[in-house]
Amino acid sequence: MIGRSGAHESSETALTGYKIAYPVVSSNGARTAFSGVGAGKRIVYLAVDDAVCLNDSSHPVPNRMCKCGFYCFHLRDAARDLTSAPENSGAVVIEVAASGRYRRHELGLRYARQRVRRVWMGPCRCGWAAEVFVHTAEGRAGWCQLTPSCRDCAQGHPVLTGASFAALSGERGLTVSGDDSPLRHFEHPHDGTGDQNTAGVDRRGCAHGRDGRDHHGCAGADGTALVDAEFAVLHARIDELQAELDHLLHQE
Ligand SMILES: [Zn+2]
Ligand SMILES: [Zn+2]
Repeated sequence: MIGRSGAHESSETALTGYKIAYPVVSSNGARTAFSGVGAGKRIVYLAVDDAVCLNDSSHPVPNRMCKCGFYCFHLRDAARDLTSAPENSGAVVIEVAASGRYRRHELGLRYARQRVRRVWMGPCRCGWAAEVFVHTAEGRAGWCQLTPSCRDCAQGHPVLTGASFAALSGERGLTVSGDDSPLRHFEHPHDGTGDQNTAGVDRRGCAHGRDGRDHHGCAGADGTALVDAEFAVLHARIDELQAELDHLLHQE
């Protein structure tokens, strides 16, 4: 409801939303969790967690004058679209149950508490469907970042299966699965019929991607991740401001 987008609301009933996150594993391998993208990249949150204020304010989260809180979109496709941006390479789409204080935006919610229900691995960086998680060179203090990988690209590397990732999250209901939908029209080049579609997709030798870039590099280190990942929500926040203006104008 756009008309109520400026209002603060609270819900004990969980609201379903979708977002992107980086899967992480603790450096002792005992626990899995998630970290955000953009400015949220330095924050690690567990499968069930409360949002903290990124500006270290003591106000309740989310706060109208601050950017703090978890973010999610109403539509899974909106979240998935963000994973196509190079700076979000390796991020997974997750389904969350959002609860507690929240602010409703046109395209999604900003809210206080979440439980991660589902994780969809995007494709491996080589383009084929991912089946496991492997380590990346990135991390936060105490946490190593993981990325989805196909079995071929993972050869010779330690892997964490989706089932293990879910079990180590500490959340019994959490499921991890592949997301084949963006790949459904693609075929293996050696199957004969898929030569056109898969031209340029090589199942071997893809450690650094077709474009020669190292996708395990410092994605988002230049700060563009924040701009791209949160653009849609920032756009929504403009609507929130408009709604508040309308509210003020109609009070008189
Ligand atoms: Zn805040
Ligand atoms: Zn691969």
